[in-house]
Amino acid sequence: MSEQKRSSLEIFRLKKLVEELESKEGKATELISQYVPPGRQISDAMTNLREEYGTSSNIKSKSTKKNVQDAIECIMQKLKLFKAPPPNGLVIFCGAIPRAGPGTEKMETFVIEPPEPISLYLYRCDARFYLDPIKDMLAEKDIYGLIVLDRSDATFALLKGRRLDVLETITSGAPSKHDAGGQSARRFQRLIEIAAHEFYKRVADHAEKDFLQIENLKGILIGGPGPTKNEFADGEFLHYQLQKKVLTVEDLGYTEEPGIHELIDKSAEALKNVDFLKDKKLVQNFLYLLAKSPNQVTYGEKDVRAKLEKGMVKSLLLSTDVETYRVKYKCQTCGNVKDGTFTKSQLLAKGGKENCDKCGGIMEEEDRKSIIEELAAMAEATNTKVEVVSIETDEGKMLLNSFGGIVAILRFTSHD
Ligand SMILES: [Zn+2]
Repeated sequence: MSEQKRSSLEIFRLKKLVEELESKEGKATELISQYVPPGRQISDAMTNLREEYGTSSNIKSKSTKKNVQDAIECIMQKLKLFKAPPPNGLVIFCGAIPRAGPGTEKMETFVIEPPEPISLYLYRCDARFYLDPIKDMLAEKDIYGLIVLDRSDATFALLKGRRLDVLETITSGAPSKHDAGGQSARRFQRLIEIAAHEFYKRVADHAEKDFLQIENLKGILIGGPGPTKNEFADGEFLHYQLQKKVLTVEDLGYTEEPGIHELIDKSAEALKNVDFLKDKKLVQNFLYLLAKSPNQVTYGEKDVRAKLEKGMVKSLLLSTDVETYRVKYKCQTCGNVKDGTFTKSQLLAKGGKENCDKCGGIMEEEDRKSIIEELAAMAEATNTKVEVVSIETDEGKMLLNSFGGIVAILRFTSHD
């Protein structure tokens, strides 16, 4: 299996595209999804599409027939651009999408080279695009089960790519010193051992419930203060399928949720390719430079844009949750052009119009891009590395809330 990971920007773009495609609905069964796996001849797909075109002449509704046939032709035109499918195959979505009411449909086409090889060959005509195989590819595959335990409690969590879910904490009810009463020290010691054994069995039961059904669980991380975690890990209490996935047993200062975070930090080696840790490190590196060498970094849309224009940015960090748009307006009277950054609600209030500050005429919206797409495109044009960071980690939240979700590390120290 190829372990080559797609960049965070590629994944972000594909996720946004899938969201957009999911929202589209044809007015009838007339949206076409065509999957062509690698190794399949383009000519096979063409032959198949010609047959579908022929079959579609039986469609009763005139407008549906026309839309289906237009979409098939459109897909064939796109396929002609390829001699063979790309290494991961090719997916084309095409159909007439209504804009407002009936009669407002416009033909839309999307050509996707998937991030992983597709295995299915499929032609489907439906009221919606068929996206499941692409959504499966986007599903998080770096999944780890975390157990933090000491004598008194155990906490279970799941790390899924860039997301951490703390699932539950159970308590041991282990006897404490004052329960010893008049019993002999030896007998009391024996009771403690029995209680510990019972607790480990319960921890294993909860681990089985929380982790065993997870497909592609990559590993189990165990940690905690004191010798309890080792007794648990070495005693092979876990279901054998989970036991063999134990990657590391770490000594921790904390239990419960703080212990889970500590366990992630201490397991950096085992988790080095997991996005949760990658996101943390990217922001930590920026914060480190900000403190140590503040002229080597910049943040905020305006300053970052200015540095990008000069080609001064080495790497750009963008938060997935920056929700503003870069919009271009053009005056209908004097041709004056201006750009601005706005939120969705500001744009809604403007209704696609802006006043011209040169002639007082009316400017109309010409182009709209999300700020992430706009800055990422600028970065790519100047060979700047782009990382898109989620808000799942504390560092990711800080990137968004303290720095506007837009920061840059410069190629060299800047003095302007
Ligand atoms: Zn004007």
